[in-house]
Amino acid sequence: CGIVGYIGKRDVAPLLLEGLQRLEYRGYDSAGVVITSPKATGLKMVKAKGRVRDLEARVPKRFTGTTGIAHTRWATHGAPSDENAHPHMSADNKVAVVHNGIIDNATELRAKLEADGVVFLSETDTEVLTHLVARSEAPTLEERVRQALKLVEGTYGIAVMHADFNDRIVVARNGSPVVLGIGEKEMFVASDVAALVAHTRQVVTLDDGEMATLKADDFRTYTTEGSRTTATPTTVEWEA
Ligand code: GLU
Repeated sequence: CGIVGYIGKRDVAPLLLEGLQRLEYRGYDSAGVVITSPKATGLKMVKAKGRVRDLEARVPKRFTGTTGIAHTRWATHGAPSDENAHPHMSADNKVAVVHNGIIDNATELRAKLEADGVVFLSETDTEVLTHLVARSEAPTLEERVRQALKLVEGTYGIAVMHADFNDRIVVARNGSPVVLGIGEKEMFVASDVAALVAHTRQVVTLDDGEMATLKADDFRTYTTEGSRTTATPTTVEWEA
């Protein structure tokens, strides 16, 4: 339902929670956040059924980082619960995915992955994406996400983090909005400009079939086939 992400120098958890709050008007049943920082060795995650304030209440005191993705969920596959809230992480805690939309062939993909020994922690369609990215051995995160997306049918706006590639967030769009917010040595991503405009008015709206890599001081866009696309930021008008 709602996605917010950030990579830069600021303390990321409060930024993401505030972004989620700005998306509350859309309605949702659960929320979650995953964060890291350039020096961190792994990802830290908190999720909760309910409102953003229920999530906030669970965030530990020292939940610091400078990179993160967050989500508000509107359940399509699996009841609203802590486990079904996004992000969905791999068993080794390395890959985290937030997703808006519906993976139509999730049942088949899940059956195949389970037959291969993968243990699922949720009932969502989204979790197949996590495991597909986690199983890829391609040299870059972009390629791992691309390989995963080749196997799925359906709609998605996704944001992906990986502990072994923690200088970036990789995002993709097919039928579910993804907007990049371009800042000064910091980048934002959201499913709705409402979550960005407090921080930057410079935005790039992804097209269907487009992906992007966000780093603190740089971004690039390309197709799911891997060829670069041009992305010139435009200025959004917004009455606060
Ligand atoms: N289909 C996913 C789920 O049920 C994502 C729903 C959403 O867009 O929030 O978890």
